[in-house]
Amino acid sequence: MGATVELPSSTLDAATWDRAHDRLVEDLRDLIRIPSINPPPAEAPDGERRVADWLAAALADAGIPSEVLELVPGRGSVFARLRGDGTGGGPLLLLSHLDVVPAPSEQWTHDPFSGDVADGYVWGRGAVDMKNLLTMELAVVRLLADEARAAGRNPATDPIPGLTRDLLFASTADEEAGGLNGIGWVVLERPELLQADAAINESGAVATTFAGRRFYPIGVAEKGYAVYRVTVHGAWGHGSMPRNDNAAVRAAEAVTRLAVQGPPRVTPVMRTFLGGLADELDGDQARLLRALASDDPRLGEAALDGICEPVPARVIRALLRDTVSPTIIHAGVKYNVIPGEAIVEIDCRVLPGTTEEAMREAVVARLGPELASHLDVDLVIHAPAVGAPTDTELYRLMERTIVDHDPDGIPLPFMVPFATDAKHTAALDIPTYGFSPLRLDPDERFMERFHGVDERVGIDALRWGLPVLYDVVRRFCG
Ligand SMILES: [Zn+2]
Repeated sequence: MGATVELPSSTLDAATWDRAHDRLVEDLRDLIRIPSINPPPAEAPDGERRVADWLAAALADAGIPSEVLELVPGRGSVFARLRGDGTGGGPLLLLSHLDVVPAPSEQWTHDPFSGDVADGYVWGRGAVDMKNLLTMELAVVRLLADEARAAGRNPATDPIPGLTRDLLFASTADEEAGGLNGIGWVVLERPELLQADAAINESGAVATTFAGRRFYPIGVAEKGYAVYRVTVHGAWGHGSMPRNDNAAVRAAEAVTRLAVQGPPRVTPVMRTFLGGLADELDGDQARLLRALASDDPRLGEAALDGICEPVPARVIRALLRDTVSPTIIHAGVKYNVIPGEAIVEIDCRVLPGTTEEAMREAVVARLGPELASHLDVDLVIHAPAVGAPTDTELYRLMERTIVDHDPDGIPLPFMVPFATDAKHTAALDIPTYGFSPLRLDPDERFMERFHGVDERVGIDALRWGLPVLYDVVRRFCG
């Protein structure tokens, strides 16, 4: 694919791209081989620090100084800055997280920390989430530093030729557990390491083929969350004499009611996304998508399974409502003791516009007054939904650059159902976009690879993505 893709605004020659791509693949393999698992396992608690040190060494090798912060021993985050001449505005932030979720290896085809290359893929935990984009961001930084040196400049101190804004590189620990030991701390204590006019982050611009057309959903919003602990009260008693106020029985009823999802609500970003999909399709599919994007999406939703595979259908349903997933149930101390108390924890994901108070009211309403009178609902943690505007220069450049590199590609603004570090950059008012450009084959099941078995990324997809990311950076900072 690489040889045939035109690079409209890239000034780099084909040999440079080939070298950058080969290095990208080797870097990704090296990074996968450092298990930066979160939560850190007792036998190797310093994986995040080792990745941060690896990145600092790679940056130093390119002539770029960096700073490694270690808020908690073993958990490193790394920060660097390339200078522009300042005439174009505030910095652009290339953001990533360097931790990964655990990967029990039994079901994997290749060891999850081998970084194996096979069948056109780089395999391993982090290949998708998100050492792929981390490595691409490093590659862009390195290319720019190389250009500075080729022009006789020192990338540590001099502006990069043609760069009118600073470019920040930040790769942080602990995203997979909320980021408080990584970017959350930096936002509070060292915001200057992140402060930028805009940020590029994970979760977006990955090609998704639907009805034969190739879409690139760019992340412009993500849902918020509210986690509640429901303490269910009952009466203790002897297991030989059943009673209706058994807390485990009440908890079971609560879980059953909470697991029924609420009505759909179409947010502006989903209206644009679904309408944009419909505009590219025809017939039943277009009609159903328009129904989904309407004020009453229920008819469209009922027909969703007829036009969609199960995974995208589940994603779309989650993006059309505030969701509730019961995830933890605890009750009982012994088989012959009726429990007088039970704990249920629920993971609620809220749309833009739903407050924590409104979510809590919905939970209580779903339980009903009688059951609700026997329990307490306590908030564990909450973060609102976040979003970035689409009427910005950076968003338009991302759309245009995708089309320049894939003339059949259709970029659309998209919301993700989960949370990323964009929750933290929102505290600094940095519009943060999910933009991890990959051109995938139509049958790729990319969404299933996040935190999944046999996580892997296509080498040709990376080859396409690197010049796209480079061009977006060059165009926004040029
Ligand atoms: Zn991630």
